[in-house]
Amino acid sequence: MHGAPQSPELRVLLTRERIQARVAQMAADISRDYADQSVVLVGVLKGAAIFLSDLARQIQLDATFDFISVSSYGSGKQSSGEVRLNKDVDQSMANKNIILVEDILDTGLTLQFLRRLFLNRAPRSVKIAALLDKKSRRTEPVEADYVGFVIPDEFVVGYGLDYNERYRNLPDICILPPEMQ
Ligand code: 5GP
Repeated sequence: MHGAPQSPELRVLLTRERIQARVAQMAADISRDYADQSVVLVGVLKGAAIFLSDLARQIQLDATFDFISVSSYGSGKQSSGEVRLNKDVDQSMANKNIILVEDILDTGLTLQFLRRLFLNRAPRSVKIAALLDKKSRRTEPVEADYVGFVIPDEFVVGYGLDYNERYRNLPDICILPPEMQ
């Protein structure tokens, strides 16, 4: 193991090599689907920042990116169901091909909220790219158009994902055992 120090209690779920290979495939799918068009990648801070930066560099299209920030109350692992926009994009979304880039799709509350918000801005299209999908946790009728990995209902950290702001810099995606939460 090299890179950022990783505590022995963390179990690796997805290695950096698997993540990189899958992100490259997702970028190839996006490049094919939008051939000859422009896209705006809209990353959800802070968790999707690392995924977006890897994805964006492999997308072979005319692309711009922007970031938004939302909170769904609570700093721990439970979200309360209420989503609030903290920081909006800096550019007009009218007539743009928007791809919402998110680290993990869990209940779907965040992406349901964001999809509605962006559909109201007269875009050309709105799609969702989620690196991780906890399908079994979904309560809202929302699916991602591009999914990296479907994962079990475990709390994961690393590659942008945090627990109380820690572990975002781990290069692998790891399961945080319940006794550490
Ligand atoms: P949703 O709104 O779909 O329930 O949740 C999406 C957000 O919940 C994600 O952007 C992420 O912030 C948080 N989340 C859900 N599951 C996990 C997880 O396993 N690990 C981490 N670090 N965050 C998670």
